[in-house]
Amino acid sequence: MRSILVLDTSAVIAGLAPGLVDAEQVTVPEVLEEARDICSKLKLETAVLAGKVRVKEPSRKSLEMVRDKVEHSGDTVSETDVKLLALALDLKERAEIVTDDYAIQNLATMLKLPYRRVAMPGIKEVLRWEAICPACGSKFPPTATSCLICGSPLKRQARR
Ligand SMILES: [Zn+2]
Repeated sequence: MRSILVLDTSAVIAGLAPGLVDAEQVTVPEVLEEARDICSKLKLETAVLAGKVRVKEPSRKSLEMVRDKVEHSGDTVSETDVKLLALALDLKERAEIVTDDYAIQNLATMLKLPYRRVAMPGIKEVLRWEAICPACGSKFPPTATSCLICGSPLKRQARR
């Protein structure tokens, strides 16, 4: 069974594009509210609308379990983080938290929940290609073979 990615706000801010990830993804409503910068917000909302990310509330039982751990850890985490960890707990062994937040990673370890940082293995598939002219630097779609400006053969490179 494939794991379900549990998205934290930091993951989206760090550049994860949920709409391009080929995996089941979930998050809590508060993460959508926390994504304040327009780019992260759009990425998340688009992914939710496209059905790529499901927005769920964690169970009360998991919430209590996480709150208890937080009290003992002394870590400073927001209510959003608590809910996110609880949601991951609900999904049990299928969950994988995606986060760049150290406190969440620490608590995830304590709760025996797997997590990964944003450097996603899937990121390579997301690379777009373009054709560039080595002579004059003009850029063309990846299917072009020679430069329309100077006629030089084009090279393919990853677009950033
Ligand atoms: Zn050229």
